[in-house]
Amino acid sequence: MTLQHFNQYPLSDELKQALEALHFHTPTPVQHETLSVAFSKQDLIVKSQTGSGKTAAYGLPICEMVDWAENKPQALILVPTRELAMQVKQDLTSLGRFKRIKAAAIYGKASFQAQKVELSQKNHIVCGTPGRILDHLEKGTLSLENLKFFVLDEADEMLNMGFIDQVSSIIQYLPPKRMSMLFSATMSDDMKKLSEQFLQSPKVIEIAREETSVQQITHTVIETEEESKFSLLQRTIVIENPDSCIIFCNTQDRVNELTLKLDEWDVPCDKIHGGMRQEDRFDVMDEFKKGEFRYLIATDIAARGIDVSDMTHVIHYDLPYEKERYIHRTGRTGRAGKSGKTIAFMTKNSKPLIDELKQDAGIDFQTQPYPTKEEAEEHVESFEEKIETPVQKENKQAGVEKDIMKLYFNGGKKKKLRAVDFVGTIAKIEGVAFDDIGIITIQDTKTYVDILNGKGPLVLNAMRHTTIKGKQLKVHEARS
Ligand code: AMP
Repeated sequence: MTLQHFNQYPLSDELKQALEALHFHTPTPVQHETLSVAFSKQDLIVKSQTGSGKTAAYGLPICEMVDWAENKPQALILVPTRELAMQVKQDLTSLGRFKRIKAAAIYGKASFQAQKVELSQKNHIVCGTPGRILDHLEKGTLSLENLKFFVLDEADEMLNMGFIDQVSSIIQYLPPKRMSMLFSATMSDDMKKLSEQFLQSPKVIEIAREETSVQQITHTVIETEEESKFSLLQRTIVIENPDSCIIFCNTQDRVNELTLKLDEWDVPCDKIHGGMRQEDRFDVMDEFKKGEFRYLIATDIAARGIDVSDMTHVIHYDLPYEKERYIHRTGRTGRAGKSGKTIAFMTKNSKPLIDELKQDAGIDFQTQPYPTKEEAEEHVESFEEKIETPVQKENKQAGVEKDIMKLYFNGGKKKKLRAVDFVGTIAKIEGVAFDDIGIITIQDTKTYVDILNGKGPLVLNAMRHTTIKGKQLKVHEARS
């Protein structure tokens, strides 16, 4: 297929600037297909693998088409996990940075009250998990009256996780005139039934697996017995010496147990599973994304959508029970055109799954012999050297975030200040243009304004002696 450039699509300069800063030059196949039709606002069903660039595929047209001046949410994106809600918010904030798009992430096990306050402020996009979104809709703290776009992301996982009733209830709150998009890696009969509830004459876009990153992945399988798995893991990671690796187990107990063992063996690792506090889950994912440790031990909670750059290996310490889970776990590596390797520890019990994956999903497994002790010993030195070297990971958002200073002002809604008042005043400062003003967050008694393009210090100085709507506010750089 011919490579396109983002310049070929009707995208504004603000979005192109963000794409440039993110180093997204060529659209992925799913982005090309979606961008080619999304501006006609036809409903879409998009079948595409995880890691194929789906977030920007719906994020770009949404960021382009939302009206900045409107205060109530114009796009609702439902995702299956809290981590994904946070990640989608961050991705869309980066894409919409120069258009000053505001996105909120709304998920369970976080303060309802704080979310209520956030939802009462200006938000263009809301990304969230179904349970908490429904809760806000039922309590009247999330208004969808001006909604124009609805996205069901990772729809197959929504159904697997039993969210179908909540999703159906949310659909009842959507205004009839809207564009809806469903993204899924697989299409079951249940999914088709669900799609009929909220999509009107959708265009179906199907991205063949070869066009996505899955083909960049080498799938290997090693036969073992349950009792030998830990020793196999030790030898495997010494020999493979991954830069960054997720090790999947089937239960929280297995994750806890394996983390302890790897810890005792002095491997820099941490864990994530659904039994942990949400803040701890976010902290672990954050540190892993930054490369602060190389091995993440996880249940399937980390299998969906989570985007960690340069993940070289996925190890199925326990193989999952369903083939879709294998595909999703595996999709954590080989992302964005990079290559990756998965290693499945196959016991007698999990052999049928491997057979099914070969037959139904056409995965070409390479069988590796159980590594010998001698083989592992040959690699010990370089393994030890690597675990002592900190990982340097590229921060994708860095290009978009650089040169931004967040300013704090001690006045907000209670002083009857609105975003236009800040924009109007700041844009009049000599040497500052409208494009230098980023996201504005107005709360009851304070306001945060992002100043872009390195103009923060200039604006800070000027605003110390400039009134807004006749009021002199205190201003300083916001603590992050
Ligand atoms: P997603 O499927 O949305 O989770 O995206 C998978 C990965 O591809 C993420 O790391 C994105 O940042 C990256 N990505 C998405 N679109 C592009 C693009 N056009 N060029 C380069 N990388 C991209």
